[in-house]
Amino acid sequence: MDECDHRPRLYAKEIDIAQTFDSEELLEHISRLPISEGDKARLSYWTPIERNRSFHFAGQSFRPSEFQWTRRVECRECVAEVPYHRVWWHLECFRTCPVHGSPLELVRNDELSLVGRWWPRFERAVPERLPDVALGEDSDTIEGWIVRSLMGSEREVVLGCLLPRTGDGHLAPYRTVGNFVEAAEFVGRLLGNERSISVPPFSVKDSEVGYQNLKGGVGAFRAHLRKWMERNRERGFAWRPGDLVGWAADYLAEGDFDPEIDETPSALMRQVSGLIREECGRVLGR
Ligand SMILES: [Zn+2]
Repeated sequence: MDECDHRPRLYAKEIDIAQTFDSEELLEHISRLPISEGDKARLSYWTPIERNRSFHFAGQSFRPSEFQWTRRVECRECVAEVPYHRVWWHLECFRTCPVHGSPLELVRNDELSLVGRWWPRFERAVPERLPDVALGEDSDTIEGWIVRSLMGSEREVVLGCLLPRTGDGHLAPYRTVGNFVEAAEFVGRLLGNERSISVPPFSVKDSEVGYQNLKGGVGAFRAHLRKWMERNRERGFAWRPGDLVGWAADYLAEGDFDPEIDETPSALMRQVSGLIREECGRVLGR
């Protein structure tokens, strides 16, 4: 291997790893390199592995709509400080850097013409692994929550759903992060807009608004919902949930879903839906 070229793509080609790499295979190759066991364990923890049409890493599983290899965004400020690629930039819901507060931007890469999976490339190399990378795990945004959750650094209680302590293998079937983001997008779209009959257009602020309304747990969410319902009170006569919460009434997770047709709603979505129904029932006097 030519010592002057440190592009991972070329190095991979030398050792017969295809451009459209399989991350499990890649991990196996890397584990043969003379690096410490601690680094190997970290790589294994953070490397997304594709199984059963899902991506697994950091003890969580993500659907293909939630995690995308082809997503080419980064925080330029993060990269300027420490030239590492952060795996959570591949999560669709991850839009704002929790360290710098700036929106992620398209990667500037001279290999951008390549389709599909790509190799991150940085202008400079670091001589050794840097332990003090700023992650923004204490920032109070949904992205900060995601980083915190993936790191398993603390147990979070969100609407009674315990985030399991991670670190016990990357194929654990936990969907806590994905389920939370899904619920946050739904709640954010409801509470972040005025009541309307049709579904409001997608907005990047949905997940953040949802996070702020859900992070305090069930009691806090109920209080936020009540305030919203008060502000959006039906002036005429309300006789069904749709008159109170508009489009959202049609999207509440049902208790009697058909597993043949519908995807099983998460416990969190059922909790959120149940709470919205309860509040509608209270207002409607049922
Ligand atoms: Zn950043």
